Amino acid sequence: MPRYDFRCRSCGATFELRRAMAQANDPAVCPQGHPDTVKLLSTVAVTGVGGGAAAPQPAPGGGGGCCGGGCCG
Ligand SMILES: [Zn+2]
Repeated sequence: MPRYDFRCRSCGATFELRRAMAQANDPAVCPQGHPDTVKLLSTVAVTGVGGGAAAPQPAPGGGGGCCGGGCCG
């Protein structure tokens, strides 16, 4: 059974309901009892951050010390 997200316009709470698709557009009542709710679109996760996380950078240096050169004295 699909899950639907609703938001209450009276108190701003968001809540989930599992109901049949035929009842997807039926009015839902907030857990606080408020009837003024709207159904949120939750079919597809919208991220739009870019397509993939950046690859982790390898640790610089690797020779020990802070720089491996002469800057440390
Ligand atoms: Zn409410």
